[in-house]
Amino acid sequence: MSGLSVRDLRVVFDGFVAVGGVDLDVPAGDVRFIIGPNGAGKTTLIDAVTGLAKATGSVTFEGQELLGRKVHKIARLGVGRTFQTATVFEELTVLQNLDIAAGWARGPLTLLRTRKGVPPEVEKALETVRLTGVRDKPAGTLAHGQKQWLEIGMLLVQNAQLFLLDEPVAGMSHDERDATGELLGQLSKDHTVVVIEHDMDFLRRFARTVTVMHAGKILSEGTVAQVQADPKVQEVYLGH
Ligand code: ADP
Repeated sequence: MSGLSVRDLRVVFDGFVAVGGVDLDVPAGDVRFIIGPNGAGKTTLIDAVTGLAKATGSVTFEGQELLGRKVHKIARLGVGRTFQTATVFEELTVLQNLDIAAGWARGPLTLLRTRKGVPPEVEKALETVRLTGVRDKPAGTLAHGQKQWLEIGMLLVQNAQLFLLDEPVAGMSHDERDATGELLGQLSKDHTVVVIEHDMDFLRRFARTVTVMHAGKILSEGTVAQVQADPKVQEVYLGH
């Protein structure tokens, strides 16, 4: 149950310290929410974990060191991430999007084989992300929330074990937020989940543990109530 472990992580852009010595542990099977004001370093932290930002220190997932590996190698080790804007193939159906993502996980040769029916992992992902009813619709016609879920589904069929989600409920309707909160709980049963999220109402309802970042460092950690009561957090984050 080792999950994600970050030690003394530093990311420096042209002398500017975006992440300045972060230690973070997210046990396997946990959902960890990361909050903090704009510019706190949240996205850069995820960029470092996924290999997009050059970093020093140590990042391990399930005991494997990630730092220094290429983006696609890190993805192959089970690390998946979504961006604030969903990146799906708009012209293709939901099913085709999932099928393509499953193909990435299987490797290029399997794309050539003749296929009969929907692979079981795709069927399962469709159900998990609640898109069975729209499986044959082009992804471009989906509601905003459904596109985010499709992206999560695409990570599922790629066998992602660690999900790094950047503001998944931004722009979602109330019902979509609720469904996403439930989906995160469901995902965490057999995955490790890290979510960057600003929406306090959502956090109050769905977050067990919250990590607060500020100026490239961890400022506070605990339940939503605990971090909200922390004077350091009130000063920099809530503006009290
Ligand atoms: P957050 O996600 O918490 O809003 P970011 O991780 O996006 O914060 O950014 C942290 C800081 O690093 C910001 O001041 C941002 O301007 C800076 N930054 C992020 N990416 C780059 C980059 N590629 N080059 C230079 N500075 C960057």
